[in-house]
Amino acid sequence: MNKAVRKAVIAGNWKMNKTPEEAKELISAIAPLVKDAGCDVMACTPYVDLWAAQEAAKGTNIQIGAENCHWAKSGAFTGEIAADMLAAMGINIVIIGHSERRQYFGETDVTVHDRTRAALDAGLTVILCVGETLEQREQGITSELVAMQTKIALGGVSKEELGRVIIAYEPLWAIGTGKTATAQQANEVCALIRDTIKELYDEAAGEGITIQYGGSMNAANAAELLAQPDVDGGLIGGASLKPADFAAIIEAVTKG
Ligand code: PEP
Repeated sequence: MNKAVRKAVIAGNWKMNKTPEEAKELISAIAPLVKDAGCDVMACTPYVDLWAAQEAAKGTNIQIGAENCHWAKSGAFTGEIAADMLAAMGINIVIIGHSERRQYFGETDVTVHDRTRAALDAGLTVILCVGETLEQREQGITSELVAMQTKIALGGVSKEELGRVIIAYEPLWAIGTGKTATAQQANEVCALIRDTIKELYDEAAGEGITIQYGGSMNAANAAELLAQPDVDGGLIGGASLKPADFAAIIEAVTKG
């Protein structure tokens, strides 16, 4: 299967930025710049911004997503949000397993699996994040680690459900650091994830799944990264808050 038949997806991860009013302004600023995008365009926002962002995105090609969801349907989990709650408000995309969740909030491969399960059960599309630390890369265990993260997260996920999974390869050492993986490093790990999917499911599943790279992708480096045969899009942090930069990344995928 050719890369061109896979769905290219550029998704913004706003992290803990923007008030609802600012979210409206940001979506309104991005919308005209990306209206002709040749890829899917998503913006994943803080929970409190979802309504406002969704309102502002009406009639545009921007899809709004959340940055996490809980594994339980409801219950005594103060401060958490259930996948069904997102679905009920018309949100159908969610990031799961972002490295900042793993690093600062005790997310493990098991909770990432459980949250992925809940999101898929609620009918959401999951952007599943995997990636290694610098120390793990230097130890030479990137391949094993990323394959293991992928396998644990997707345990019990059917081939049909896999159609609602996007995988984002995000090396921790490249997130928010300004240090980007080289195009070759990014492609190598994205290809390895694709092989893992082939091993878990089958050839067609591996060839069909969208795999993004994330980690300091910006207007200057996007074209080279997105031109790689196994890089089908990007998960964008900092640059997704700057309309012109986000649009330039989308332009790069559109051209590529
Ligand atoms: C991210 O938050 O997923 C990310 C890739 O951040 P940045 O683009 O800022 O490195």
